Order: sequence, then C-alpha cells, then structure tokens
Amino acid sequence: MIRKKTQEEIQRLAAAGHVLGGILDVLVATAAVGVTGNQLNTIAEKMIADAGAQPVFKGYGEPPFPASICISINQQVVHGIPNNVPFQEGDIVSIDAGLSLGGMIVDSARTVGVGAITDEYVRLLAVTKQALVVGIAQALPGSPVGNIGHAIQEYVEGEGFEVVRKLVGHGVGFELHEEPQVPNFGLAGLGPVLQEGMVIAIEPMVTIGSPDVDTADDGWGIVAISGKSAAHEEHTIAITKSGPVILTA
Ligand code: MG
Ligand code: MG
Repeated sequence: MIRKKTQEEIQRLAAAGHVLGGILDVLVATAAVGVTGNQLNTIAEKMIADAGAQPVFKGYGEPPFPASICISINQQVVHGIPNNVPFQEGDIVSIDAGLSLGGMIVDSARTVGVGAITDEYVRLLAVTKQALVVGIAQALPGSPVGNIGHAIQEYVEGEGFEVVRKLVGHGVGFELHEEPQVPNFGLAGLGPVLQEGMVIAIEPMVTIGSPDVDTADDGWGIVAISGKSAAHEEHTIAITKSGPVILTA
C-alpha cells in the first residue's frame, strides 16, 4: 500500500531533508585523498545527533548494517560499509545517508571524485547527476511511476552508460523503504500513478559496460561486475500539485 503524506508531514520531511542536505554538503566537501569512510561516518553521526535526528541505516536489515552512512568506493555501486582504507587520488566515492527527524525519514546520496579522476569518470558523474534531474522531471501527479525509469534509462543509455536493474528507488517517509518501487529502467506508462502527497526516493545507479552487479562477501556491498567505477545520486521527492519538490537539496 502506498502511504501518502499530508502537507504537514511533507513540511516535516522538508525540515529533515534540509538537515540531511547540509550533512551531505559537509561529507562531500570533506572527501579527499587520505580521508576514510569511517571518518565520514563519524562526522555524519555527530551532525545527525547534533540536529536531534536519528540515523536510519544503522542496524537496518540482515545482517544489521553497522554504520550510519554507506560509503561505496569505485566498483562498489551502493551499500558499501565504511572502513579505514584511505581514499586515493582517482577514487569514485558514493555517500548515501538517511535520517529520521520529527518522525519522518529522508534518504539521499551523492557521488564525488577524489582528486583528479579520468575523463570517463568525469562523464559518469555528470551523467548520473543529470539522470536524477531527468527522473525528477517525470515525478508528476497523474504520471505512472514507470515514466521516471523510462526517462532515466533512455537518457543514461543514450550517453553510453548503463543503469543497474537489481536495485530500485522507493517510497519513503514513514519507513526507509515503502511502496512503490521506483525503477531506473523500463517502459513508460507502467506502474502506479503518482498522486499528490506521495514521497519517493529516486536514485539512479549508473555503471560502465554492464548493468549487472554482485553482492560482496560482507552481505551488503553491491559491486559492478564490470570492475569499473559506478555512480549513484539520490533525492527524496514530494509529489505536489505544482510538480516534484526536492526535499533533500
Ligand atoms: Mg539512499
Ligand atoms: Mg534509497
């Protein structure tokens, strides 16, 4: 069942999203050569606590996720567990975070290059960012959710990259993962029709060469089988009368 949010709940989501956006700004600015995923996780945990919010990734799932953010480096696409390995020049680092504030949950991710990265990866990051913009533009009341994934896939493949099929975006707000699923691929016109008050996380995951992924031995990390770096961008979006509103900017 899709659980719509009231205007008041969307206001609380926007407040939570504002905090999360500020935390991601700091994490992105801090990611540099020699910094570790554990250091970013420590910063995020302090900022989440200082805002009076709670982390929602920690303890999630089975085995319970051990950190408050996901740090997915290079061929890791998403769900990487932060560790003590320093980032190196040329790394591609995806930072995914979620928090609960005022009883409402938001989810957002960004991918950054560490130091100088190859031209191919510069393009990968730009296309992934733009894929999110392209997807958000389809998040309109009255449109089937499939229009989002169709637009993302068409755009990404047109740029010569691939979209991951195994993981999808999702409803969010009361829980971290709610209905509907929001794929980054597929046919337009399919899926539930978006309505005012729905809140969804749109999150294109973009790879090079093959869209296929494997699960890492730790049970969490999702790894591109191509062996090349992957990228991931995510915003929590409210569907409103006047169109999509980004809550995690
Ligand atoms: Mg996320
Ligand atoms: Mg998500």
